[in-house]
Parts: sequence; C-alpha cells; structure tokens
Amino acid sequence: MVQTYKCPGCGASLQFTPGAGELVCEYCGTHVSVEQLEQDQAPADYKVENQVDHSKEAHGDMNSYVCKNCGAHLIVEKHTSATTCAYCGSPAVIEERLEGVLKPAGVIPFKINKEQAKEMFRKWICTGFFTPSVFKKQASIEQIKGIYVPFWLYDYEAEADAAADCTRVSTERRGDYRYTHTDHYHVERRVRSQYEKIPADASEKMPDDVMDRMEPYNYGEIVDFSMPYLSGYESEKYNYESNDVSMVKRIEDRVNSYIYRDLQSTVNGYTGVTYLRKDISLRRKQAKYTLFPVWILTYRYLNQNFMFAINGQTGKQVGKLPNSKGKIWGSIAGITFGICFALLMLGGLLG
Ligand SMILES: [Zn+2]
Ligand SMILES: [Zn+2]
Repeated sequence: MVQTYKCPGCGASLQFTPGAGELVCEYCGTHVSVEQLEQDQAPADYKVENQVDHSKEAHGDMNSYVCKNCGAHLIVEKHTSATTCAYCGSPAVIEERLEGVLKPAGVIPFKINKEQAKEMFRKWICTGFFTPSVFKKQASIEQIKGIYVPFWLYDYEAEADAAADCTRVSTERRGDYRYTHTDHYHVERRVRSQYEKIPADASEKMPDDVMDRMEPYNYGEIVDFSMPYLSGYESEKYNYESNDVSMVKRIEDRVNSYIYRDLQSTVNGYTGVTYLRKDISLRRKQAKYTLFPVWILTYRYLNQNFMFAINGQTGKQVGKLPNSKGKIWGSIAGITFGICFALLMLGGLLG
C-alpha cells in the first residue's frame, strides 16, 4: 500500500521538513508532528494495484501502485520503500516494505534540508580548479536526492586470549666493551571488550567506500522508526540480511581490528613482541536495522560515473570532481611560459 500524508489544513501532500523535526505544509504552513500523522492516517483507504503479487510477473523487478494524489501508475523497483510520484511529485511511502521484519528499529531524520544540500554542492563544485566549465554548467543540481540508506548497526562482544614472547633490550658500556642484554618475558593477556552500534550499509547500490567515509553519524539522535520521516525522500529496504556472508565479513574484519588494537594496548613497554598464540573469538549480540540520511547527486561525464554525497545529519561531504585535461595542460603551459618569461627578463637584466 502507498501512503501519502495529507495536510489537514489544505489537503496538499506533506514532506518531512529537516530542521523543524516534523512535517510542514509548504502551501499553508501547517505543522504536523510525526506522532500525530501516525495516529491519524488509517492506511486502509488506499487503493493498491496488484495486491496479490502478480505485479512482479507483469513488470519483472518492478511493482506498480496507484498514486493517491493524481491516480497515475507508479512503477517502483522491488527494493524501493519510499519515493515520489513521477507525474505529480507527491511523496509515496510503501508500507508493506516497512513492516514486519522489514520494519526499521530506528531512523536518523534529515537535518540538512535540500536548499542547504544544493548550496554545499554549488560551493564544492567551485573548489575544483580543474573542473571543466562545461561540467559546472551541465551538472544538474536539481537532481540532488535525499535518500534514507538502510544500515545494520551491530553490537559485538569480543575476546582475545594471547601469549607473547616479549623482549626488553638494554645496553651498558664496560671499558672498551659494550654489552647488550636482552631479557625475555612471557606475557599472557586475556582481553574482553564490548562494541556497540558498528555500522555497515545494507544497500546494493550505495558504494561501501562512500558510505564508510560518510561516518560518523551521531547515534544519540537515532529515534524510533516511523513512516512519516520518509515522506518526500527516497528509501530502499535492505538488500542484505544482517547475517548475510558479505555483511558478516565486513563487520567482523572491523571488530577483529578493534579487539586486536585493544589487546596491543595492554602489551606496553617492550622492545619486541612476538605472539605465540592469539585466539580471538567474536560473539554477535544483536543487529538493528536503521535508516541513515544521505543527499546524493550522481552524474556522468565523459563516460564516467561520479557521485557527490552529503551526510544528511552532519553535512560531511564525500565526492570526486572530474578533471579537464585541457585545463591541466593549459595551466602547465601557463606556468612554463611564466618561468621562461622570468628567465628572459633575468637574462635581459644581467646582459
Ligand atoms: Zn497545507
Ligand atoms: Zn501522482
């Protein structure tokens, strides 16, 4: 079922408004809280096309819904859980992809709004000296999208049981001789640590490195999940379960490095450390499904894909600007010319 939240004042479609922390009608200014919408909107009166899952056969990986606002057929990909109608721009939240096992435990609501995100992109694009001017003109800033990306937040308990041969070297001088003493110590350590809310994105489309560089998010601002937060944004349900092999590998590599670091921090003051035994065991306590806000602008330039992303909570930016070969050569030529000119001047003065 598609859910579109309506303004109680004028009937227009409502979007979640960053900063305000609630939904504000852009036409009449009515403020509606997330809790209020949750109570008011009975989902039963929305018409669903292909309620039985025949839709998948008809559209491949697509499902089709009827827009509550304009009646157009909304074709959405199989993972999409929130989007906007391509015809009238009305927000549409797809309820069955946010319920049961698909219901997120928490969400970090957007704090950076679209205008701020566009301004950040404008400034960023101006920092690229070698950025082709054609690109600066072409980059369509209106394409910037607010997306809630699915993440798993893992809690782990880890234990390291290790034994090491450690050495301490000292030197002393006696007459003409220098003596080197090497003392050996047998060191045993058992370290146990808890790690909470280690994040890994569960989205197929989002590049892992971009999402990793988007960190940190402030987890103190995670709120209980509620659908109205998604109104006006794009969202996808998770593509990977929390116990998916690729997810587990990614997260356990990280936990391993944490517990190893904690172990090493207890073995201090030695010249050399050789581990004889190092048993590390990890235990997953829980994984919570949480949505994180990201502003994304993807673009193509000279057959290459580029992505600019902003952490929708903190404003941290990640991206790579295309370089123009013409501009780089132009500037090298300019510098070379400048040096030659200076040498000529110098030659002239001396001669
Ligand atoms: Zn209104
Ligand atoms: Zn529509």
